[in-house]
Amino acid sequence: MADEATDKSARERAKQIAEQRRAERRQRKRRCVLCNLEESEKNPLGPHPDGIGPSCRDELACQMRRRQANANG
Ligand SMILES: [Zn+2]
Repeated sequence: MADEATDKSARERAKQIAEQRRAERRQRKRRCVLCNLEESEKNPLGPHPDGIGPSCRDELACQMRRRQANANG
C-alpha cells in the first residue's frame, strides 16, 4: 500500500518547485529578438510568427526602434 503522507509531501514539493520555476521565469526579463528591447508591462512580448523567439506585440514601435538603431549604428 502507498504511504499517503509521503505521497502528499512529494506532491507538495513538486508544487513548490514548479512555483519557484514560475517565479524565476517571471523575474528573468525576455528581450525582443528584433529590436532587443526588454519585456515590460508597457512593452509586452509575444511569439514571433516565424518562431524565431519573443518579439514586441507592438510591431510598428518595434520597427521604429530597429530603424533608429540602424540610423545610429
Ligand atoms: Zn521589438
